Amino acid sequence: MQIRSSTRSRPVVLVTGGAGFLGSYLCERLLAAHCDVICVDNFYTGNADNVAHLRREPRFEVIRHDINFPLYVEVDAIFNLACPASPIHYQRDPVQTTKTNVQGAINMLGLAKRTGARILQASTSEVYGDPGVHPQSETYGGNVDVTGARACYDEGKRCAETLFFDYHRQHATEIKVARIFNTYGPRMHPGDGRVVSNFIRQALADEPITLYGQGNQTRSFCYVSDMIDGLLALMDAPALVTGPINLGNPYEITIRELAERVIALTGSRSALVHEPLPDRDPARRCPVIERARDALGWSPTIGLDEGLRLTIEDFRARLT
Ligand code: NAD
Ligand code: UDP
Ligand code: UDP
Repeated sequence: MQIRSSTRSRPVVLVTGGAGFLGSYLCERLLAAHCDVICVDNFYTGNADNVAHLRREPRFEVIRHDINFPLYVEVDAIFNLACPASPIHYQRDPVQTTKTNVQGAINMLGLAKRTGARILQASTSEVYGDPGVHPQSETYGGNVDVTGARACYDEGKRCAETLFFDYHRQHATEIKVARIFNTYGPRMHPGDGRVVSNFIRQALADEPITLYGQGNQTRSFCYVSDMIDGLLALMDAPALVTGPINLGNPYEITIRELAERVIALTGSRSALVHEPLPDRDPARRCPVIERARDALGWSPTIGLDEGLRLTIEDFRARLT
């Protein structure tokens, strides 16, 4: 990390949502980069077990806190990841999801403004909604259904981006906005309902693999270590690199093909079954990552089969 502190010997970095899937990896990498790390989490979808192995490290601190409430700590950089990410999680209490994205972002931006910290927002490909343009570049304005079941997340994240750019213009806050595309890997919660976790869990148990709709919809899956490299590179980039910047793996695959890959890699006897397509499920999703390549020198390095193998190994160790 290039983040410097003007007053402290080591930079202090806050990770909200630090006990979640992506947040826990970020905490690990920041500690390895000799930062002091404050992990803030209300454990709504995250889990203290995700960071249990870091607790021996004196430079690591966990605070149980909901970012919808003000937080006063002295920090040099903030990664704002707090927000449930899986559709079943963020739709369970949609009002809370919008609040976390909007009120939570205001609090973290207020904290950044007061401390002069640089702040990165974990935004999402969902700001593009069910995209009318394919693949999606940062200039595409998106096609989000304002009143649909996914809107609490999509519109919440869109409003958070607006807040980030307004704090930047109004208060000169140093911002970074990453639009994260589907990311997977070891340590995902096996019950989070996301497609990779569902399929691997089902395949390992030889249970039916649930294709929502016909399975012709596409996604582009990025392995977690590549995503963390991208987020760290963006945080380290010069101040004028604010984003929004797509981070994801442009290898696009149908959900049916994903199921077939998982079956092949696990040697499972699972059959494919069809279940109804969830409300407003985007038909296609694939990032254009030229901006990340140019501004950060970043592109993903782990292919889907390799990433799935590593994830399957981890699920096998935890579930069987
Ligand atoms: P996750 O659910 O594993 O982690 C989110 C963490 O935030 C959890 O630990 C949860 O307890 C915490 N949290 C939720 N609301 C909070 C609140 N009000 N106050 C404090 N903590 C709170 O999800 P993840 O996959 O690690 O995603 C992390 C971030 O990245 C999210 O903001 C998500 O929207 C974004 N993102 C993730 C993906 C992906 O594919 N994983 C894709 C796009 C965007
Ligand atoms: N805030 C915070 N920690 C801080 C500074 C501010 O949580 O260190 C919160 C504060 O509660 C406020 C929000 O961030 O409601 C926005 O702060 P800002 O200074 O932008 O606005 P104001 O205080 O004028 O509402
Ligand atoms: N999906 C599926 N079966 C499952 C879980 C998800 O077919 O058991 C589909 C879902 O309808 C979507 C895609 O897989 O089209 C990705 O779903 P996920 O919830 O992982 O993320 P999203 O990109 O929709 O936020």
